[in-house]
This record gives sequence, structure tokens and C-alpha cells, in this order.
Amino acid sequence: MLPRKVEELVRLFARLPSVGEKTAQRFALYLASREPDTARALGEALVAMVDTVATCARCGNLAERGEDGDEARCAICRDSRRDAGLLCVVARIQDLMSIERSRAFAGSYFVLGKLLSPLEGVGVDELPLAALERRVRGAGGEQSVREVLVATPPSVDGEATALLVARELKPLGVTVTRLATGVPHGGDLEFSDPVTIGRAIAGRRDLG
Ligand SMILES: [Zn+2]
Repeated sequence: MLPRKVEELVRLFARLPSVGEKTAQRFALYLASREPDTARALGEALVAMVDTVATCARCGNLAERGEDGDEARCAICRDSRRDAGLLCVVARIQDLMSIERSRAFAGSYFVLGKLLSPLEGVGVDELPLAALERRVRGAGGEQSVREVLVATPPSVDGEATALLVARELKPLGVTVTRLATGVPHGGDLEFSDPVTIGRAIAGRRDLG
């Protein structure tokens, strides 16, 4: 019914999170019939993003790709005013961004990328715990970390991950803290307002 290239675009849009078949079709039809300039700009922006963006080798945030094979470092990791001795562990980059919006945290980050989830088959071995431990120890000439604030969401998986991180890091002699319950239980950092997140950081408690 539709040209092959439009059908292909529908299939690609449908792969995006929270985009179903109908929304994918609406996007594709809109771009193809009404917004050819936007479609071209979108295509170019996507290619440019893939060519220039990489994962920060230090924290897992997104970063500009390093020059001449240098490791990518994100804007936060390049900022010397950030406290490298205070490390916030988050599940996803969206959570890092929510915490940044609160302006209540001046340390650095470590993005796990996923949460421990027996139901979804994510086990201990799939979390980057070895890299986290290296970072906390201060391997590779880094300043060692004195406090790790675990800011995984207050869901079952988030709590299980927080306990695992605490268990792994405590033997290193580092203080491990958890966001105070200000973020609603089962809630998402992404959907909490900056003031609530700021209070949860200020009221963080020791994770014994
Ligand atoms: Zn970084």
C-alpha cells in the first residue's frame, strides 16, 4: 500500500521504546507527505550522531567521540570542579540527567546500564561491578572515592541492585549511601521533580 521506503521507516520507528505500530506509521506518513525538509534533517542528524557520539569510558554517560583514538570523556567527567571523591551510581543515563537537573549533586557518576532483575534474566554477572570497583579504588591514577551514593530507583529491582552494590563496595572501606525516600516507591527518578530529587539527595542515608 505504501512505497517500500516508507514501510521500511515504519518498521524502524516501531523499534523505538514506547512507539507502537500506529505511532510509527503516523511519524512516517507525516515526514513523507508533509515534512520532507525535517525528514532530511532528521536523517542527517542521526548519521552525525552515530559518527560523533560514544559512551564515556569513565562513567557510561554519552560523550563526544575522542580525537585520534583517545577514550571518550563526557562533559561531567571533563569538568575539574566536580568532586571525584563522591560517586553517584545510577541505572540509566536518564536518571543521571534527572539528578543533574536538581543541581543538588556536584560529584561524578557511574551508569550501570541495567538493574539486577531475576524476572528479566539479568544476573549479577551482567552488571559492570568490576569496572565500578576499579573506579572506587581509584585505579588508573584516579582519585579514590570516599562516598558512593546509590541512586537506583526505589523499585524491587532498584533496591536489590542497591544492596548488591553496597555488599560489593563496603569491603573497600567506602561509605555507601542511598537516596532518602522522597522519590515515590516504585517511582522513576525521571518523573520526579528536581526539588524532590534534591531533598532525596540531601537526606541520603547510610546503607549498612
Ligand atoms: Zn563521564
